[in-house]
Amino acid sequence: MSAAASGERLGVFGGTFDPPHVGHLVTAVNARHELRLDRVLLVVNNRPWQKVGTREISSAEDRLAMVEAAVGDVEGLEASRLEIDRGGVSYTADTLTRLRAEEPGVELSVILGSDAAAGLPTWERVEEVRSLATIVVVERPGSEECRLPDGWSWVRVEVPRLEVSSTDLRARVADGRPLDYLLPPGVIETIERRGLYRERVAT
Ligand code: ATP
Ligand code: MG
Repeated sequence: MSAAASGERLGVFGGTFDPPHVGHLVTAVNARHELRLDRVLLVVNNRPWQKVGTREISSAEDRLAMVEAAVGDVEGLEASRLEIDRGGVSYTADTLTRLRAEEPGVELSVILGSDAAAGLPTWERVEEVRSLATIVVVERPGSEECRLPDGWSWVRVEVPRLEVSSTDLRARVADGRPLDYLLPPGVIETIERRGLYRERVAT
């Protein structure tokens, strides 16, 4: 059997996760199921290049703690601190290269919501991303149907569409509105314990 044929099937789902919510989790478990992935890594961006300078982002360690609480012991989902340990600005091309170097036979899939996928052509070293991984897109409510440049191969996965965003959740915390059922209880506890999002900030 070739290395590729015996390789692990790994999903890479990157995000700011400020905070992680049910939209992220439902996407991760359903993409894992549909694509028969062994594991899906929720990779916490250290410094998301798209968001630098736009608003105050919670510390990487706070966001990682929330993602760890979010995945809990759900089978096949894992919080990854790979981009935090690498430091600096986070580029998916670097993350995929690293995962491939650690495990040469690995089969990589990059999972993206349709809003993030729309920006894919502008990503740093996107050709590397395309050659290292299968691009997987889930439609996100409120964002236009995904279109990628002609000739790009990518797969669409249908997951229950949940109109939930971290932006709305941060505002909910600041306003004292309910979080229940939008965030796993462990994430709500982590937000409370660490005193996150209490001040209303412009989004
Ligand atoms: P923010 O509002 O701060 O941008 P967000 O809810 O968009 O937060 P991100 O951390 O920016 O969350 O997104 C990480 C990844 O998860 C992206 O690929 C994004 O498209 C996807 N995603 C986020 N929310 C959903 C959702 N409700 N359904 C499907 N995909 C989602
Ligand atoms: Mg977003």
